[in-house]
Amino acid sequence: MGDAVMDNGALEPRPHYFRDLSDVPVELEPPTGTVTDTRNRQLRDLRISVTDRCNFRCVYCMPKEIFGKDFTFMERAELLTFEEMTRLARIAVAHGVEKIRLTGGEPLLRKGLEELVGMLAALKTPDGRDIDIALTTNGSALAVKAQSLKDAGLKRVTVSLDSLDDATFKAMNDVNFPVAKVLHGIDVAHEVGLGPIKINMVMKRGQNDQDIVSMARHFKGSPYILRFIEFMDVGTSNGWKMGEVVPSAEVISRINAELPLEEIAPNYNGETSARWRYRDGSGEIGVISSVTQSFCHSCTRVRVSTEGKLFTCLFATDGHDLSALMRSGCSDEQLSTVMAHIWRERTDRYSELRSAKTRELRATGKTKIEMSYIGG
Ligand code: SAM
Ligand code: SF4
Ligand code: SF4
Repeated sequence: MGDAVMDNGALEPRPHYFRDLSDVPVELEPPTGTVTDTRNRQLRDLRISVTDRCNFRCVYCMPKEIFGKDFTFMERAELLTFEEMTRLARIAVAHGVEKIRLTGGEPLLRKGLEELVGMLAALKTPDGRDIDIALTTNGSALAVKAQSLKDAGLKRVTVSLDSLDDATFKAMNDVNFPVAKVLHGIDVAHEVGLGPIKINMVMKRGQNDQDIVSMARHFKGSPYILRFIEFMDVGTSNGWKMGEVVPSAEVISRINAELPLEEIAPNYNGETSARWRYRDGSGEIGVISSVTQSFCHSCTRVRVSTEGKLFTCLFATDGHDLSALMRSGCSDEQLSTVMAHIWRERTDRYSELRSAKTRELRATGKTKIEMSYIGG
């Protein structure tokens, strides 16, 4: 059972989390190469957070009021080691994972990341194919790291970039980081072959939505694919309000008015981004409607946090403590059994439920849904 939404809108914690050896089922199950959840979704993607630290303080993610000087980040001993991450990844791959994305925090802050990339790049699917290894980064250290990451086996990078206007960008990263350095990092990553590079722009109304069309214009005709992401109510600290979300439909209509667009088919079933191309043939953009159009029905993702908890939904209230299991001597067979159980019992569809709740609130005359209402 996954989290459910209670009548007051908060998430109800699932009744059972795997936390120690006593939770491990007695009957062991070797992986079969595929595992399916209660909504017929197969496990396909793994995201590993390699650090909880970041050199940016993006206002929608790590606002300074919360992540200030007094904030305590994890101690090194709490972090999963590269060997532990690779062990979990190997088991996930045996269950059907084909894509691994490294994220954070800012993943490029984790020392020796290339070593982890190399270890993950050596994994193969049960039928002998390479794993698709990608990384999401704020781009600040990309110019320095791109070549060594490529050499280690990284396939692609996605770079977050919320504005081309220096003042707006600095206000959003809130550490005065200049946009030119990120743009240079993107170009270096492209030159070393870490493409096709996707550029993610999170939009917050009143903060950077005035830059939507200029971003589109800038990347039109370039080798980079720009994707617009709706500001999500993730975590408990970003003060999310529905009124600050710029819906994808508005993004498309604003760009289309100046640079005509047409919708195109997804690359594969379950792609989170809806694709649009310029009618003049000069490339495509994507929109990720995490808030206005949930894609839970095709969500094949599992996440491992920096300290080794496994989450089956971005909005889950807690995770399964795989670090505790590994560090108390769990065997590969036991870990594999636990992973199979977790995925098979998965019911998560938070965004879908939130959309239904938002419609219900609108129908009763309320126009915005607060974080405190829906729960974190
Ligand atoms: N530091 C890296 C970066 O910024 O790319 C990787 C980690 S960051 C948490 C991963 C992605 O989540 C980024 O593209 C970021 O813009 C996005 N993100 C963070 N908070 C978000 C929010 N509240 N709503 C939507 N996207 C968000
Ligand atoms: Fe750091 Fe990425 Fe979050 Fe920005 S979005 S604060 S760069 S982790
Ligand atoms: Fe997946 Fe839906 Fe959870 Fe997002 S809200 S992680 S799409 S199940």
